[in-house]
Amino acid sequence: MKKPVRVRFAPSPTGPLHIGGLRTALYNYLFARHYKGTMILRIEDTDQSRYVPGAEEYIRQSLQWCQIELDESPWQGGPCAPYRQSERKHLYAQYVQQLLESGHAYYAFDTPEELEQARQRTKAEGEEFQYNAAVRMKMKNALSLPASQTEQLLKAGTPYVIRFKVPQGKIVRFDDLIRGEVVVSSDTIDDKVLLKSDGMPTYHLANVVDDYLMNISHVIRGEEWLPSTPLHVLLYKAFGWESSMPQFAHLPLLLKPEGEGKLSKRDAKQYGFAVFPLQWTDPQTGEIWQGFREDGYLPEALINFLALLGWNPGTEQEIFSMEELIAAFSLEKVSKAGARFDINKAKWFNQQYLKAMPEALLAQMLLEELNARAMPCTKEKALQIVQLMKDRISFVRDILIQGAFFFQAPTTYESETVARKWNATTAQALEAFAIALEQEPKEFTPTAIKQTLNEVLSKMNIKLGGVLPALRLAITGTSSGPDLMEIIAICGRRETISRIKTALQALPITH
Ligand code: GLU
Repeated sequence: MKKPVRVRFAPSPTGPLHIGGLRTALYNYLFARHYKGTMILRIEDTDQSRYVPGAEEYIRQSLQWCQIELDESPWQGGPCAPYRQSERKHLYAQYVQQLLESGHAYYAFDTPEELEQARQRTKAEGEEFQYNAAVRMKMKNALSLPASQTEQLLKAGTPYVIRFKVPQGKIVRFDDLIRGEVVVSSDTIDDKVLLKSDGMPTYHLANVVDDYLMNISHVIRGEEWLPSTPLHVLLYKAFGWESSMPQFAHLPLLLKPEGEGKLSKRDAKQYGFAVFPLQWTDPQTGEIWQGFREDGYLPEALINFLALLGWNPGTEQEIFSMEELIAAFSLEKVSKAGARFDINKAKWFNQQYLKAMPEALLAQMLLEELNARAMPCTKEKALQIVQLMKDRISFVRDILIQGAFFFQAPTTYESETVARKWNATTAQALEAFAIALEQEPKEFTPTAIKQTLNEVLSKMNIKLGGVLPALRLAITGTSSGPDLMEIIAICGRRETISRIKTALQALPITH
């Protein structure tokens, strides 16, 4: 009988959740929902030297923002609680005892200095030190020492670690759902520490014990854990849990924008983009790291972008809602090759989602941006602005730059356009247009404005094409942008007249 699908995302709270970690969480979530299984979050906080305050809360908020829902976690509990490894210490001690008794693990008393000496010795012989079958009998442990001495050392409270006794000359084999069959000789694996001298388990022990106790059916994690998996397989065997061993799926790396090497947070600094979902302030250094949320990304756009970084639906479709991703996702379509991180693609997704968004919501977002800058604007005006601008922006914030003229009259004018398009004729035409606007009782709609302008110009026998750039210059200070009549309608009659008058005064006529 097939096991029910139970997957886990198992971050260590050693800093903010990296975008690669978020993708791992997402793929686990999509897989769980696709198979109507269970999505678990386990906090792997056994390495206390790397514990960063605030990191766990950051992970919680990031997942929440991205709408990656959990079924079991430290924050909501569940049948396998506790879900924080630091609260499960007693379990690891108990299970490591089982390995000691069955002869799969042993006490080792080597001091850090002794280990360093051994390392130096092997190095001098031109080899890499490995605490393994070949050297373990030369070290200070329960296998090399007489039983009575081991007992004495333990009684005397001598610090020790517990190591895994890796079997010699065995072939370790497992099927990775993404990478296919993996075959490794056990002789390449060293006798890893399972329990540290402070009584804390290492990642390997805690991870395997918990995956077993939490009935995990599939371990979906980053490629950097692939080298650890043969050891995990050996641990499952040593515990006698082989038949309930989860299936493994190792996700491809996220690559640097240039396409080679693993994407790092330093790349983010260098290129000025975010690799963290939310802004993060390092509690130790105070350094601030950009977040996708603060940069103006919609969570739906980020999720869509991430989903396609390493997975392809096998069709041309690019825009996927979470529901559609759940329906379409499969591990078979996750690629083995690394996925190049292209921030422009993320921007493109954001653009698509903004375009598709209800305009009222977009207007609300614009008002929030304006409020944060103490820039007044009515709801109605915000709505008109987003209607006009939404196809041109990647972020709502872009409106404040690309549409700065909606909120403030221009104070400078693009000099090249002034030189080419501003002359005595255009100035006269604009002056007449301003007067007409003052006298016109007509409604102030784009069509009515255009009609007024046409009437003015035809009386003066001037062509519209020659005047429009000058008019745009007067209203916006620039030479390009969305439909000018729409802009004028949004700015309003009084403001338009005032801007034309200001430009007429400010701009010299040289020809
Ligand atoms: N705690 C590990 C991490 O931080 C989990 C690896 C795994 O999923 O087994 O990524």
